[in-house]
Amino acid sequence: MEEYWVMSLGGSGEDARSCFLVRLGQRLVLLDCGVRRELEAGQERIYPALTPQIATSLDGVFLSHAHEDHVAALPYLAELGYRGPVYATIQTIQMVKGFMNKWIRFVKAGGGTLPFREENVNLLDFCPVELGSQNWKGISLTLGRSGHMLGSIWIHFNVGGKTLLYTGDMTFDGQLLAADLPPQADTAILECAYAGRELCQQTQYKTLLQSVKATVAAGGRVLLPVPPNGRGCDILLYLGQTLENVPIWAEKDVLCQADALLKEQQWLHQGKDWGWAKNLPVHSLSSDEQREQALVEGGVILTPDGMLTSKAALFYYERMKSCPADQIIITGHTSKGVMGSLIFKEDYRVKNRVAVQAKRITIKAHQDEEDALRLAKQLGAKQAMLFHTAQESCGPLLQKLAAAGISGVCRRSPGRLDF
Ligand SMILES: [Zn+2]
Ligand SMILES: [Zn+2]
Repeated sequence: MEEYWVMSLGGSGEDARSCFLVRLGQRLVLLDCGVRRELEAGQERIYPALTPQIATSLDGVFLSHAHEDHVAALPYLAELGYRGPVYATIQTIQMVKGFMNKWIRFVKAGGGTLPFREENVNLLDFCPVELGSQNWKGISLTLGRSGHMLGSIWIHFNVGGKTLLYTGDMTFDGQLLAADLPPQADTAILECAYAGRELCQQTQYKTLLQSVKATVAAGGRVLLPVPPNGRGCDILLYLGQTLENVPIWAEKDVLCQADALLKEQQWLHQGKDWGWAKNLPVHSLSSDEQREQALVEGGVILTPDGMLTSKAALFYYERMKSCPADQIIITGHTSKGVMGSLIFKEDYRVKNRVAVQAKRITIKAHQDEEDALRLAKQLGAKQAMLFHTAQESCGPLLQKLAAAGISGVCRRSPGRLDF
């Protein structure tokens, strides 16, 4: 009797270290291999629950996209003995080393230790995969766009009469990036990063616009730390289209990545002409003189990265932190302990005399409660393993799934979900 099951080695019941071990009859695969982007947590909470036994038994690893919480534990997997293929889209492969190295720098800068050798990054055997249906080692495999970032995919397996979907990080609400509806799946590993919340993307954008306008009208400047790929590009285009008479400044990296993204036609919504995007009234920033100039002239400044940790982001932060008229708007998730989280902590603000206003306005790059429920229904799923959010936030979604006849699980400890 062949076995079919999925086990969360990280990701289910928590907002980090996505990593799922899947038994598909003869084959054993790993879906993503991420970290928790925090230094304060213990090693066992930062990395997935991998063992040398698992690492040396795998037939392959599939990556949904390039973010650290999905890939940065790959060198650890190599340390445990994995030398097989790591499948990902070509766009993900082009970015994945950058994200692994970013994680290594983050750990070293924080005085932490790595449970692997840095050179393991070069041991990984990345193999490009194409969108669409294909045969992989006797398994029918379908890959589609997940709308979360450039190169991000969902992964669908059909084998032995069983169907399994791994959504990866997913949204149908990207301005630029398109997402495909996956085929039917009896079992879904379902992303629900915004479980417990309902967010209307258009309302979120309007709130962002109003907040920028109000701050500038009151004589303040706005700092927008954004991940340059995907969400950052969407925000840049939106502000470029809607914000009048307010200077828009963007770090060169944000503009370069927006430019590169606009060239990737097969990942974008069809039938829209993005040519106008190249003529947006945005000033590029790449030197400290230009950065100072932007701060003198005022307006809104977009900088990598979304968690307010990059050198450029901190350059602006240092100059804005004692200005109560200025505002920093965080549009996505920020890990515990990073500057993008600290600016909201009252004790940190008092101790460090932080006067700049800090605000959270989420621009969706993930699924909220209704999105996750809708997708599970569209898939015709019988069971779903929820991931990318804390267990405490999943109660209402689990109830809604149950009411739709879908049994949901969400648990921190590795447990087998048979299908
Ligand atoms: Zn992601
Ligand atoms: Zn993620």
